[in-house]
Amino acid sequence: MAASNRRVLIAGGGPVGLLCAWLLGRRRLPVLVCDDNSELQADPRAATTHPATLDLLEEDGLADDMARVGLVAPIFQFWDRPSGKLVAEFDHAVLKNDTRHPFVVQCEQFKTAKLLLERLHALANVEVLFSHEVIGVTQDADSVSIEVRGSDGLKRHTGTYLIGADGGRSVVRKQSDIAFDGFTWPERFIVFTTPYDFEQKRGYCPRSYFADPGSWCNCFKVSADGPPGLWRTVFPTDPSQPDADLTRDSAVQALMQKFFPSPEPYEVVHRNLYVTHQRVAATFRKGRVLLAGDAAHVNNPIGGMGLNGGIQDAANLCEKLAKVLLEGASEQLLDLYSLQRRTVAIEFVQEQSIANKKRLEASDPEVRRRNLDELRQMAADRERSRAFLLRTAMIASQRRAAALVPPI
Ligand SMILES: Cc1cc2nc3c(=O)[nH]c(=O)nc-3n(C[C@H](O)[C@H](O)[C@H](O)COP(=O)(O)OP(=O)(O)OC[C@H]3O[C@@H](n4cnc5c(N)ncnc54)[C@H](O)[C@@H]3O)c2cc1C
Repeated sequence: MAASNRRVLIAGGGPVGLLCAWLLGRRRLPVLVCDDNSELQADPRAATTHPATLDLLEEDGLADDMARVGLVAPIFQFWDRPSGKLVAEFDHAVLKNDTRHPFVVQCEQFKTAKLLLERLHALANVEVLFSHEVIGVTQDADSVSIEVRGSDGLKRHTGTYLIGADGGRSVVRKQSDIAFDGFTWPERFIVFTTPYDFEQKRGYCPRSYFADPGSWCNCFKVSADGPPGLWRTVFPTDPSQPDADLTRDSAVQALMQKFFPSPEPYEVVHRNLYVTHQRVAATFRKGRVLLAGDAAHVNNPIGGMGLNGGIQDAANLCEKLAKVLLEGASEQLLDLYSLQRRTVAIEFVQEQSIANKKRLEASDPEVRRRNLDELRQMAADRERSRAFLLRTAMIASQRRAAALVPPI
């Protein structure tokens, strides 16, 4: 196949789109990425990168670079907010025979995207167009085209496949008539970022989860612009309260003080509100259109699985797409991509992220006691702890995906 006929189009230059571009570009395939933003977004969303994902990002030292600009965090903790007691602590060291990275790396997603964009600049066969919004998608038996609105007007680009990595509101998914079933949580999730050092002042480790009847908090550290770093606290909101009330100083301080009483008010440098969904696309492939990342699946951020799933999609998809385009492998491989990644999005990421939320917010005293006891017992038993971590570290889902074979 001539190189010009092998061009892959990518809608969305978030971390998943840029990773796809890099994985395909490294294999010398021509790639065009269109992103509607004018530049990379300094987005305070994902940070936690799990062991299974780090194992996929070793090419060209990417995982090492992420650790260099982020933080290595081998341990996470569960706390009980009302009693203030530590419930359980899990150490990824028990996974030393399951992964080359028995720890998570806390690397903000804009840093991962920046590391990828720097690598893309070195590839002459990859073009990244910012300020270019994909507004239309058409395909036939031989090619796929996108209509793109940029500063120079409307343009049409044609390629052999299109990867929709354009986030949860994906135009590619909508234009391809792919359903996105699931539900939206009534409460929104609010993130406060503070320089308050929870580790030094309160003894919390850089990934700490707090259970509270009817509520919860994720408290985690990011390296930000360097030591001493910043801490992000994520809470659910009251669905009946308007945005302006939720982000008002008095409300911010009240929530912080409820979870982390302190004689001083907290310095809060960012406050962000998110609508949160649990949805999976009906298929990750429709002809020449392939979905990856949030365009294919969205979930609540407790456990930090959304972008990890997207990175795992990208690695799975690009390996198969390269085989189809460079080695003449059957397109059925792309159906296998959809089967493997969609199955684990449902069986693992949806299930685990919903279970994580329910465990933290349980309000029935008996259910709470059971949940916290179970965490204590798992942490105290090496084999149970390993089984739990294989799921949270997304190793079990990678193994499940690899074991799925096409239906005959
Ligand atoms: C508070 C919070 C914390 C989180 N923490 C974690 C975590 O610790 N670990 C984790 O794994 N996940 C986490 N997530 C989830 C993670 O942020 C997402 O899964 C991740 O951003 C998905 O990456 P993506 O590249 O698929 O989509 P996005 O990051 O949404 O990127 C999509 C890109 O496409 C562009 N785009 C959209 N439409 C168009 C169009 N029509 N044309 C061109 N471009 C377009 C967008 O501007 C954007 O640049 C968190 C989410 C939240 C809200």
